[in-house]
Amino acid sequence: MRGPIGADPASIDKGLRARAGYTSGHRSGPDAGLQQENRMLYRRLGSTGLKLSALSFGAWVTFGDQIARDEARNLIAAAWDNGINFFDNAEGYARGRAEQVMGDVIADLRLPRDGFCVSSKVFFGAVDDPRPTQHGLSRKHVTDACHAALKRLRVDYLDLYYCHRPDPDTPIAETVQAMDTLIRQGKVLYWGTSEWSAAQIQEAVDIARAGHLHAPSMEQPQYNLLHRDRVEREYAPLYADAGLGTTIWSPLASGLLTGKYNAGVDAQSRLGQAQTAWLKDLVLGDPAEQRLEKVRRFTALAAQLGQSPAQLAIAWCLRNPNVSSVILGASRVGQLQENLGALRLFDTMDETVWQQVDAAFD
Ligand code: NDP
Repeated sequence: MRGPIGADPASIDKGLRARAGYTSGHRSGPDAGLQQENRMLYRRLGSTGLKLSALSFGAWVTFGDQIARDEARNLIAAAWDNGINFFDNAEGYARGRAEQVMGDVIADLRLPRDGFCVSSKVFFGAVDDPRPTQHGLSRKHVTDACHAALKRLRVDYLDLYYCHRPDPDTPIAETVQAMDTLIRQGKVLYWGTSEWSAAQIQEAVDIARAGHLHAPSMEQPQYNLLHRDRVEREYAPLYADAGLGTTIWSPLASGLLTGKYNAGVDAQSRLGQAQTAWLKDLVLGDPAEQRLEKVRRFTALAAQLGQSPAQLAIAWCLRNPNVSSVILGASRVGQLQENLGALRLFDTMDETVWQQVDAAFD
């Protein structure tokens, strides 16, 4: 297998074939939606045929902002080397710079286009002080933002394209039609939502079904030990009825669940950065002590078990069968490597451990 720098297409191909299970054959039957191919797990995106790595990798805060381009390259290379096949992005991340960096790095590494999936999200816009047509979910902005993301990411189509938030100023039917058009044009393969209510997703599904249009295939919600209600309760009817998949964000609550903020905020970490000052209160909660108390209980339990809290928290997300992919974030390769160890815990921890974990969060 190649090292993290300087991709050799022949060795990529060899590694990919091994990971794809060509040497060990394919699984079928009841667990066909959840395959273990070498170490990485691959799960179906809801009822679609698309298999995403159960751990994927996203660019929020880090790419184009917090980290240098070389580190971004090392992160994508390490993710790819470990079987990650889905890279998440959005027009709004660092005002489009995150997509630019990701596109350059993927091209530079010469990853085969049919071996990876890349996403974008539309809503927030990619410029400061956007004009009315430069944000939201109108047919115009959904279309313009798709074209801009294709250029920045240097691809001919987006595998996944999300509506980053609901837009109260655009009828859901208009957005459904715009997404359907992009799919028919071959510019998008699967479309979905992010942080829409179950009622809004259901409305989009109903409109699509009635009009023989492509319905949303996935949601991108926050899901972690501190934030679980929407994924576990609100969306519950949508998994079977609409075949909804989920690609979940902030599995570590922006790093909080690693325990790194238990004794205060370090200036080098995400919540210590000037550009993410707005995030600090959101993540630590108000009052901060209540959340931190739960996290301290959790990290004490992890220490007692001799396990990394980050791995335990990510493995906990993987246990939910309605989670298609857990999107990891990392500012350093060492973090990503540690977090990938969640796959081992997911396989080996028994039920009593998960009960203890749940108990730490009441
Ligand atoms: P996490 O909750 O996992 O937070 C990642 C951050 O935590 C890292 O950047 C790093 O920050 C810290 N960290 C990660 N691993 C470790 C470790 N092992 N030890 C110590 N610190 C660690 O995920 P994100 O919040 O980044 O979300 C993941 C992805 O989800 C995003 O990149 C994005 O693609 C997507 N997302 C989508 C949203 C949406 O609205 N749809 C919203 C937010 C994210 P540091 O080193 O700087 O402290």
